[in-house]
Amino acid sequence: MLTPQVTPPFPLHWGFSTKLDPPADLPLLRLSQVHGCGLVEAPGLGSQGIQEADGIWTTTAGVCIGVRVADCVPILMAGLVVGKPWAAVLHAGWRGAVAGIFRRGIDLFQAQGGEVEMLTWALGPSIQQCHFEVGEEVIDAARLDPAWHPSLSAAGPRGRPHLDLPGFLRAQGVHLGLSPSREGSVNLCTVCQEQLLWSFRRGDRFERQWGWIEIG
Ligand SMILES: [Zn+2]
Repeated sequence: MLTPQVTPPFPLHWGFSTKLDPPADLPLLRLSQVHGCGLVEAPGLGSQGIQEADGIWTTTAGVCIGVRVADCVPILMAGLVVGKPWAAVLHAGWRGAVAGIFRRGIDLFQAQGGEVEMLTWALGPSIQQCHFEVGEEVIDAARLDPAWHPSLSAAGPRGRPHLDLPGFLRAQGVHLGLSPSREGSVNLCTVCQEQLLWSFRRGDRFERQWGWIEIG
């Protein structure tokens, strides 16, 4: 298990699982992820059921929420809303990033009464710019975002662009007022770290790691 490199704002458990974690330690499956930007509230303690969304949030202690990823970016968020713990986890591939799922997660926190600059946040292991070759249409879509900057795309060895997906998400977050001092991202590349992490692009078709959080 990899842990965000930042002090949490209230007692909680959180992390990014790896190939080395036993399945029994992983969260209950609650989401059917569709590369969109929908967010849902987790059902209460003891409730089950799967909802179609790419983000999930809770204010209930003991409810473990998470997303499954194998190259996409898991995003953990924790902050106080009117003095009470609030936590969310998002799944962001390039489609979700372009569609604004991180923006929607931050907006939700703010709409419920949270102060954006006080939100603690962490991007988990994902495909990094070293390996994320994309088509020009992906860059064209991402470039429309107001937080875009040119260094988020660099020409790769085959002459095609490589997108810095976590960098793009980070730029969106900071653009919306997140504090860099409350960021605890774990910047490992899923493709590079074959011993530790699953990667769809490297050929893992079914296995996933989790980004998860539980208010403690
Ligand atoms: Zn890499």
